[in-house]
This record gives sequence, C-alpha cells and structure tokens, in this order.
Amino acid sequence: MSERESIYEVVIIGSGPAGLTAAIYAARADLRPLVIEGPQPGGQLTITTEVENYPGFSKGIQGPELMAEFRAQAERFGTEFLTSWIRQIDLSERPFRIVTDEHTLKAKTLIIASGASAKWLGIPGEAPAPAGLGGLGVSACATCDGFFFKDREIVVIGGGDTAMEEANFLTRYARRVTVIHRRGSLRASKIMQEKAFKNEKIDFIWDTGVEEILGTAETGVTGVRLKNLKTGEERIFNCEGVFVAIGHKPNTDLFKGQLEMDEVGYLKTAGRTMATNVPGVFACGDVQDSCYRQAVTAAGTGCMAAIDAERFLDHLPVEIATGEEITIEGERVTADHEKIILPDGEVVSNQAELSLPA
Ligand SMILES: Cc1cc2nc3c(=O)[nH]c(=O)nc-3n(C[C@H](O)[C@H](O)[C@H](O)COP(=O)(O)OP(=O)(O)OC[C@H]3O[C@@H](n4cnc5c(N)ncnc54)[C@H](O)[C@@H]3O)c2cc1C
Repeated sequence: MSERESIYEVVIIGSGPAGLTAAIYAARADLRPLVIEGPQPGGQLTITTEVENYPGFSKGIQGPELMAEFRAQAERFGTEFLTSWIRQIDLSERPFRIVTDEHTLKAKTLIIASGASAKWLGIPGEAPAPAGLGGLGVSACATCDGFFFKDREIVVIGGGDTAMEEANFLTRYARRVTVIHRRGSLRASKIMQEKAFKNEKIDFIWDTGVEEILGTAETGVTGVRLKNLKTGEERIFNCEGVFVAIGHKPNTDLFKGQLEMDEVGYLKTAGRTMATNVPGVFACGDVQDSCYRQAVTAAGTGCMAAIDAERFLDHLPVEIATGEEITIEGERVTADHEKIILPDGEVVSNQAELSLPA
C-alpha cells in the first residue's frame, strides 16, 4: 500500500452527479481535487437508460452518456481520479486520513458524495438489463420513470411511506396501480395511508410476496408471479411495470460514529450549507437527502459543498449543523453572531468597533 506524499486540498468521495459537480467547481477554483470513484464510477445514472428530466437536454440523454459528460467537464479543469474503494477513514484530526484499497491519502477538506442505494428484493427479473428487466419496466424511482408508464397497469411493491408516495404519484400516469404488500396492514404513516386508500386508481393485494418479475427484453415486463404468504397459493398478475419501493440505504457505513446521521443513516448537514458536524467535512447528493433523490438536486448540492469547502480553505467562516460558524483555524462564531470563541476558549465580541469621524 502506498502513502501518497501530497496532502490534497479537497478529496471527493463518489463520482455521481453530486461528486462530479463538486469536482467541477473545486477544480475551477484551482483546488486540484481528487475524486475517489468507488464501486460505481458515474453513480446510479450509469444503470439507467433515458434521462428526460435533467435540464439542458431537451431531447433527453442516456444516463451513462450524461455521466461521461460530467466526468469530461471535471477532467477538463484538472480533477484527478482514483478508481478505488474507500475502506477506512479517520476524521478525528485534520488533515483527514483516507485508506483506499491501494493508497493512504490525506485531505484538508472532504466532500462526501457516496450516494444512496435503493433496496431491492433480490428476486428473478429484478436486476438491471440485460441480466433482468431493470430499465425495461422495473424501477425504484417513480419521479424518474413514472412518465414512461402512461395508461399502463403497474404494481408497487412495499407498505411504507415510500411505497404510498410512489403509488399516489404514479396514478398521474398509470391506468391502475396495485400495491402488493407482504403483511395485512400498511407500515406507512396514517396520512399517507389515507391518501392511498382514498385514491380510486389504487388497489391493494395483501399478505402477498412477489416471487418473480416476468417478461423478456422484447416485451418488457408482462407480469409478476405472486405467492399468498398465508395460503401458499401462487398466481400470475399481469402488469406492464413494477416499482420496488421498500426504501433506500445511504452509503454511510464508513462514517458511523464519526459523523452525525439520522436514524436511517443519512448524513446531517447544516441546512444553509453542506457542512456536517465535523469542520472541513461536507456532504452532498443522495447521501444527505432522503427527500428529493434526483440528479439535479444532487448536482446542486455538489456545487454548494464545493463552494463551502473553498470558503473554509479561504479561512472564511462556514455555518455548521448547530447554527454556529467555524473557521479552518477553529474559531467559532456563535449562532447569534454575538461572540467568537477562539481555539484556546477565549471569548471575544464579534461586534465591529466603529469609530465615527468627528
Ligand atoms: C435506475 C435509476 C434511474 C434513475 N433515473 C433518474 C432520472 O431519470 N432523473 C433523475 O434526476 N434521477 C434519476 N435517478 C436518481 C439519481 O440517479 C440519483 O439521485 C443521483 O445519481 C444521486 O447522485 P449522487 O452523486 O448523490 O450519488 P450516486 O449517483 O449514487 O453516486 C455515488 C458515488 O459514490 C461512490 N461510492 C459509494 N461508496 C463508496 C466508497 N466506500 N468509496 C468510494 N466511493 C464510494 C459510488 O461509486 C458512486 O460513484 C435514478 C436512479 C436510479 C437507480
């Protein structure tokens, strides 16, 4: 394992829309960022086909092609890439220490853009094409793919808030939406359940598991094979689309015990900035966003994280999750902006002393 000599100003973890947008901004600010690409170079969009909602592409663009453009733009301004997987990270002191499969690196600031992964059932027919029907009628994102299912018969698998949200959203396009759930009642919040029950386009199949997604590359999805979990009875349910809505898992295992997260594992950021609770560590994209999970929002927060890192390296105060602002020297500006707490604990006023001309 080699110890890289240089200490990077900015290391970015992940090369999806968030990480590569952060790289474009950091590189144009002359910070010579290093992007560590991880297990999925280009991120989630590399496993999809047509992306129709990314602004600037009026005719749509293939996911892998869009991400190749992001990468070329980041490269053009001097971004360095490392195709490796981070195994360990130490955020207890700056520069931060990052251990990949082959290298140990140091970073003055870190931008985490490691994304989130949709949870899948692991059933036959679910994998991305050509191994399965993923992209050919199987999806985990109604906002992304609902538009392709106009006047179709589709099923949504799941019983939580995500599933109810997806089912309600999909009724804008679909002829009928059938929610298939393993239990006899929903886990979703009351308000989400009521919305789904009131929606005349949504039906429910209870106590039932989906065993297989049926179809071919030529036909796309044609149905699902269902099993009643109480009686064991199996049957085919015809449909043209399957949305798996059993939740997402943010890729944050590396940061457990080091960074503040919510109960699911999404990283917490300041709100107005992309700063985490550790000064100099920023997070952007799906890894800190359980709500929107879109390429354009990931790119937007990637831009914010890079500008935050740039400000921090420029010795300017950056707001952190507590509402305080912090500088690279460790000075803290209180949330009410009244006082500055110096690294040795001394407290001084943050008010400008104005001496007006006589
Ligand atoms: C099938 C599919 C279709 C979609 N279609 C659309 C669409 O049409 N429009 C739209 O706006 N959105 C769409 N989305 C959602 C969109 O892809 C995501 O919102 C977006 O990719 C999130 O970007 P990100 O940069 O935060 O993370 P990701 O794209 O998830 O990228 C994460 C990056 O982190 C890296 N990484 C993870 N762990 C490690 C590690 N330990 N070490 C180093 N690197 C690591 C990965 O290799 C990857 O490069 C779709 C998603 C899917 C799955």
